[in-house]
Order: sequence, then C-alpha cells, then structure tokens
Amino acid sequence: MSNMHQKRIANVAARLASTEHDVIFITPGADLRYLTGYDALPLERLTCLAVRSDGNAWMIVPTLEKPSALAHGVPEIGIDLLDWQETQDPYSLLLSAVGSTHRPLVNNLMWVEKAFGLQSAVGKNVELAGKLLSDIREIKTADEIAFLHEAGAAIDEVHSNMHKWLRPGRTEREVGKDIAEAILAAGHETVDFVIVASGPNGASPHHELSDRVIQPGEPVVVDIGGTMPSGYCSDCTRMYVCGPAPVEYVEHYAVLLAAQEAAREHARPGVSCESVDAVAREVLTSGGLGDQFIHRTGHGIGMETHEEPYIVTGNKSLLVPGHAFSIEPGFYFAGKCGARIEDIVTCTEDGIRSANNTSRELVVL
Ligand code: ZN
Ligand code: ZN
Repeated sequence: MSNMHQKRIANVAARLASTEHDVIFITPGADLRYLTGYDALPLERLTCLAVRSDGNAWMIVPTLEKPSALAHGVPEIGIDLLDWQETQDPYSLLLSAVGSTHRPLVNNLMWVEKAFGLQSAVGKNVELAGKLLSDIREIKTADEIAFLHEAGAAIDEVHSNMHKWLRPGRTEREVGKDIAEAILAAGHETVDFVIVASGPNGASPHHELSDRVIQPGEPVVVDIGGTMPSGYCSDCTRMYVCGPAPVEYVEHYAVLLAAQEAAREHARPGVSCESVDAVAREVLTSGGLGDQFIHRTGHGIGMETHEEPYIVTGNKSLLVPGHAFSIEPGFYFAGKCGARIEDIVTCTEDGIRSANNTSRELVVL
C-alpha cells in the first residue's frame, strides 16, 4: 500500500507546484487517510500532515499516538514523523521542520481551532485546499471502484433482509437498532447512518430514528450506510410498505421509479453532472412532483459519504470514468409521506455500473 500512498502525496505536491501555494496542511479525516492510510482520530491534540510543493512531507503527532502512526507505516511512505509532548507547542515544532511558507493551504474539513493555530504559527492567512484535493480524490482507481462495489454489496445484503425487522407495531428505533447490527454483520466497520422514516417522517429527507410506531399500509423510507474496513462507504435507499400502500402513493412511486431509471440511463462519461439532475427532475416535474423534489439528485462517494462530484444544477463538470456518485431522486409531502430511491453508481468507459442491485420497486412486506 505504501507505494500507492507515496504516489498520492507526490500527486498533491505536483499540483501544489502548479499553483501559487507552497505548502498544504492536512489534519485527521478522509483526506489524511486517503493520502497516508493513517485513519487518526480527530482529537483536540494536533496531528497534522504537511506536504511541500517540492515533495517533502512531515507529520506531527502527539507522542502518545506515535506507536499508532508507526503501526500505520507513516515513515515508510517517506513522511518525516515528528512527535510532540504534552507541554510542547506542536505548531511551532511542525513549522520549524517545514520552514517558512508564503501561501499555505489547509484541507477543507480541518477544525477551525487547528486552522487558526496554524495561521498564527505561520503568520499568514491559510486558504482552503478545495479542488486541489477533491480533483484527485473524485477520480477513483480500479481498486477504489472495487471497494465501493464491495460496500454496495454489503448494504444490499442488509436491504434484502429487511423483512426480518421491519413490521407494523415496532418503533423506528427498534427496527433501526436491528439494521445497525446487520450493517456491521454484513462487513462494515462502522455504521454511519440509519434512517427509518415511517409515514409522515418520510417527508423529512434526513430524519433518522424516532419512537414512532410503524403503522400498517404506510410507506417507510430506509436509507442506510456504513464504512467498510477498506475505508470506503455505502449508501442506499429502498422503500418499504407493510401491507398495501395507498393508491395515490403507488402512482407517485411509479413516477419516481421512472425518474431514477431515466437518470441512470442518461449517466455516462461526457455528460454533465447537472444534466443527470435535470433528467430526473424533468420526469418528476412532468409527473406533477417537481415541487416535491426538494434536494439535488446525488453526491459523490468514496472515503466520505458526501464528496465531489455533486449531481446538482450548476455543476457543469463532465462525468469521467472513475467517478462514483449516488442517483437518489425523491418526493416529499410535508406532514404526509415521502419516498426516495438511491443507488451508488460508478462511471465506466461507456456508461455506469450500479453498486446497489436489489429491486428498486416499492417492497411490500
Ligand atoms: Zn446518498
Ligand atoms: Zn442515502
């Protein structure tokens, strides 16, 4: 693995060299894990990678976390590993190794506390890395694509067993607890989110769990995901109903299914991200549900559940092989009900491949 991480760091350095910036600082999170393989916990003590445009790299970690950084092979990828003791100032220690910088970058999800700490140590304003990192991370290699499909198969396994847990008389929370256990049993390392949104709760796209008792005949949105040991995430929504659903809902669902299918058929290399959104939106709008589709059609996915490329109006970027993203149109009637159908797809040379392959029909339990 270390050769792969060396290449990724060299890639960041090369991109830095093509800009006005000379150093990038990266604290724990998906960016750090992607570049080094080290999934350090984001904590109050400073852990920080610094990469210079000439390719030199340093990482400072608290002394008590040095064994962990060594176990993850940080020095083997050519990173100079520094450590700081409880009473030392990690910012000045890091800067004395890295040297002066005239225009430093920080990763987007760095805690403000750390960004301000670096800023005052450097004596210059820090700027966001933005596309410098996301342009690299959004194009997945064959290995990363395989990891995403493995994650998709794991979450499919959970959806295909939903009949074991989802039934009227149980609360969303009870069902959600069983689903969370199943997400881990299917091979995920962590449960990232469990949405079980019954009846009117389905109208809130990011509802998680409540003590509401699931009623017969009401649709339930189940949107679930976790992170695999590889570091790659799953995210899949399927719709369930215990017993026959209301006729009007079934009609609306048919429109949604057609919208999701149209977007999947449209997505391929060379089409814009926003056009995938437009295709789904067009079907929902002509079916009378345009006003009820209150969010973008999708988001990229990788080591984070939400990352570039976003499938949204205004994103004119073209899809290319290696992109991985969700296609998840929905409709939401406040106080009444909601629905969403979500697949993770990966862009191939001539189309897309779905990482999620259970039935997209409304599943009647
Ligand atoms: Zn999603
Ligand atoms: Zn989702």
